[in-house]
Amino acid sequence: MKTFLRLAGLTRPFAWWMLLAALIGFATIGSGIGLLMASAWLITTAALMPALSALQIGITGVRFFGISRGVIRYAERLISHNTTFRILTRLRVWFYDAVEPLAPARLAAYKSADLLKRIVDDIQSLENIYARVLSPPVTAALVTLLMWFVVSHWSTSAAEGVLASQLFAGLAVPLLTTRLAAGTARNITALQGEQQVLAVDMVQGMSELRVFGMVGDYAEKLHEAEVKKLALQKRAAFIEGLHESLTGLAMNGAVIWILFSMVPLVKSGAVNAITLASVVFGVMASFEAFLPLTGSVQNIEADVRAGERLFEIIDAKPEVVPPERPEAFPKSTDIQVRNLAFTYPGSNRAALDGVSFSVPQGARTAIVGPSGAGKSTITSLMVRFWNPAQGEISIGGQTIDKLDPEELRRNIAVVSQRTYLFGQTIRENLLLAAPEATDEQLRNALVMAGLGDLQSRLDDWAGQHGMNLSGGERQRLAVARMILQDAPVIVLDEATANLDALTEQALLETLDHASHGKTVLSITHNLHRMERYDEIVVLYEGKVIEHGSHDELLKAGGFYAGMWRLQHAG
Ligand code: ATP
Repeated sequence: MKTFLRLAGLTRPFAWWMLLAALIGFATIGSGIGLLMASAWLITTAALMPALSALQIGITGVRFFGISRGVIRYAERLISHNTTFRILTRLRVWFYDAVEPLAPARLAAYKSADLLKRIVDDIQSLENIYARVLSPPVTAALVTLLMWFVVSHWSTSAAEGVLASQLFAGLAVPLLTTRLAAGTARNITALQGEQQVLAVDMVQGMSELRVFGMVGDYAEKLHEAEVKKLALQKRAAFIEGLHESLTGLAMNGAVIWILFSMVPLVKSGAVNAITLASVVFGVMASFEAFLPLTGSVQNIEADVRAGERLFEIIDAKPEVVPPERPEAFPKSTDIQVRNLAFTYPGSNRAALDGVSFSVPQGARTAIVGPSGAGKSTITSLMVRFWNPAQGEISIGGQTIDKLDPEELRRNIAVVSQRTYLFGQTIRENLLLAAPEATDEQLRNALVMAGLGDLQSRLDDWAGQHGMNLSGGERQRLAVARMILQDAPVIVLDEATANLDALTEQALLETLDHASHGKTVLSITHNLHRMERYDEIVVLYEGKVIEHGSHDELLKAGGFYAGMWRLQHAG
């Protein structure tokens, strides 16, 4: 209920439009009632073969209501859909604004297909709340009132019967079908989510699945979800049919009741037989207002669930909150890391535990250590994807939590082992780092990154996740982005991992050249050409166990020396 009220509350800026849509909906059904009443009057009067002039009023009525019904329905659809789409547009922008600060820390728990479903399908399904749930009950209530006034004008007893049938169709039937449908729509939504996650996994991992011969197993899982979903959809269709039949039953009950209470009045001459025919037809037409309640009631559960899924993300507190009055980015880029500790949520092992080191402006520091030592975690903390549990990082004497996170990220260029390339052109992938860059600047960056060949392919599609490029080219493209970003601090996080020795060597040279004069923090477990670092910090299980220059560490004969010898043996 809370979610429903919250969703309804979002319509506040459009309340008048929504009300107008409901009123026009009422006018549409009113025209339908008028049309059937006028038609009944015309047919029954004509059966008595009066002069044509006596039928004139009926003919005009049929024409008027016939035309107005179509025109008003068009206006109603226009207004209600226009309002709904405006609300959805607002919701989408609002949702995106809420999601952005959550990335990546708070979004790590969600699968990408699940997030996609929330952004696309869940928001779309709210269309139902706004177009079908909020206005039909208002329209149905107004129609009930109208029929009370119309019918009670001739017979109070008949009006009471009609009211009872309409309350049955408008309240009892929806309540009953809601009870029967409990969980159905929610489970359909959950299964659709599950299918989407499976389908995305299957498409993205098709090569692996084929290699391991697992395509059939994934297809089977998809099929199982489909079978379950079909069973639920059948149940939903049955409930919908039940709703329609019960509404029809209520309508016929109302007609029988009218005949039962008004035929004696006709016999006694208190009511004209022609009037009775018009009232019966008018009441039948009025039940049109109760049919859309099926859709609203059946889907309300799924819509509320969609709303809950959206609010779950919107209400999540971002890990990093920008300072209200951020300090200007410092001129100096001396980096100081003091006593840094961090544990990932849900993990019982500290990724970093009291790490301290410094990188003077313009110097090169390497962080080395075995896999899982916590090296990449330092990068994540530096660009404020996460906040440390303890300790601090400062740049130019300013702790980074006092800086605007976006400005901080603009000033730190990160080249990691996982370069994400968007399924767009090479040009667009490069412009991400410098949206204003000219073609000449893009070409220069490509040449500097050793990708001269791509100069003429700027408008070529990079492929899904950059699949049209080789691993080495993707890494070089990341370097070209780094060159374009022209940030004073450079973080290289295993930037040459997964490359063959020759490509790695060439890329390292490119990186040295491109990062000349900048403050460089290089994370690696590959101990090649380590003499070029001013300082090497050795990390083991989240702790700094050694630091010094390459020669000093080799002389010390500790962990680093052991790693180095192991890699250079033979
Ligand atoms: P590698 O050289 O393999 O990249 P690393 O030294 O960079 O390793 P980190 O990625 O910093 O290591 O990971 C440090 C520890 O934190 C590891 O035990 C890892 O399993 C854990 N870890 C890393 N990322 C997450 C995460 N998002 N959630 C939970 N634990 C994580």
